[in-house]
Amino acid sequence: VRVTIVGAGVVGLTTALELCRAGHTVDVVARDTTPGTTSDVAAAIWYPYRVGPHDAVADWAAQSYRIFAELARDEATGVVIRQGTEMFRDRVAEPAWRAGATDLESVSGGDHFAGGYRFSAPVIDMSRYLPWLQASVERGGVGIERAVVTDLGALVDEGRVVVNCAGLGARELADDPTVEPVRGQVVRVRQIGITEWYDEDTPGALTYIVPRLDDIVLGGSAERGRWDVEVDASETEAIMRRCIAVEPRLADAQVLSTAVGLRPWRPSVRLATETDRPVVHCYGHGGAGVTLSWGCAREVVGLVDAYDRKG
Ligand SMILES: Cc1cc2nc3c(=O)[nH]c(=O)nc-3n(C[C@H](O)[C@H](O)[C@H](O)COP(=O)(O)OP(=O)(O)OC[C@H]3O[C@@H](n4cnc5c(N)ncnc54)[C@H](O)[C@@H]3O)c2cc1C
Repeated sequence: VRVTIVGAGVVGLTTALELCRAGHTVDVVARDTTPGTTSDVAAAIWYPYRVGPHDAVADWAAQSYRIFAELARDEATGVVIRQGTEMFRDRVAEPAWRAGATDLESVSGGDHFAGGYRFSAPVIDMSRYLPWLQASVERGGVGIERAVVTDLGALVDEGRVVVNCAGLGARELADDPTVEPVRGQVVRVRQIGITEWYDEDTPGALTYIVPRLDDIVLGGSAERGRWDVEVDASETEAIMRRCIAVEPRLADAQVLSTAVGLRPWRPSVRLATETDRPVVHCYGHGGAGVTLSWGCAREVVGLVDAYDRKG
């Protein structure tokens, strides 16, 4: 099948790679490519955050975990498996995605928390991973064109199956007002020998520490409906303060950069083929597009294969 994918973030590129491995003829059209996508801002740790529906998410996340674990054997991918801890102020139910993180165990909350989990998770350094992914896609013979798509139907009229991986852009492209930004800010500091990730549910904010290979991503924030992408200096200070309270060694870490990204949130991921035309939608991954990328890409391949069989 001739397939055009709209979008070259982590979802579009992973889908392109899987479709091309399945034998389809693929090209990608995207307004932005790495390092200019939301995916480039992701922290990015394997964690199904701000995303639904629960059952499908658990399955997509588990599939992706297994693939990231394989990719971690090759340093060029920027993927490493790291142990870490997540702490909750209120008691939470067992996560639906628990099976994906095979070594997950409960930990006591001490004085400040109701409890927490400890598990190993893939940490994906997007500054290495996205260039690696894009190069893999291009090596597979996929062309990546920089352009804005305004009409999915026009691509269908050219005889293609279209896969819409436009992230937040799907709000307009698919005329879907349920897609909204959840704004997030991060601070990147030089690596100072930290190897464990940490995440806690701070009231009104997020606090996370994600140690990559050469640097550490500190976060964060999650403001639904906020569209501006200017870095907020007071937020940078607040993120540093919260992270230093958790890990005092960070006080000596040199700040390398700050960034803002808009998570493409939707009440649940839209992963389905339209009934009356060959358009497969795959968007709305919220705070978990990296975490779900491989599982979702494989499901898209199944939908395109099904279209192929129908002829
Ligand atoms: C601060 C922050 C931290 C995060 N941390 C994590 C994390 O730890 N783990 C995790 O799994 N996720 C994390 N995320 C979420 C993750 O970044 C997103 O879920 C993911 O990047 C979504 O990928 P995507 O490919 O759908 O979208 P994007 O990366 O936004 O890509 C969309 C693509 O579509 C293109 N496009 C849009 N509209 C059009 C159009 N009309 N025509 C042509 N092209 C178009 C864009 O140019 C781009 O190429 C984080 C996000 C933020 C902001």
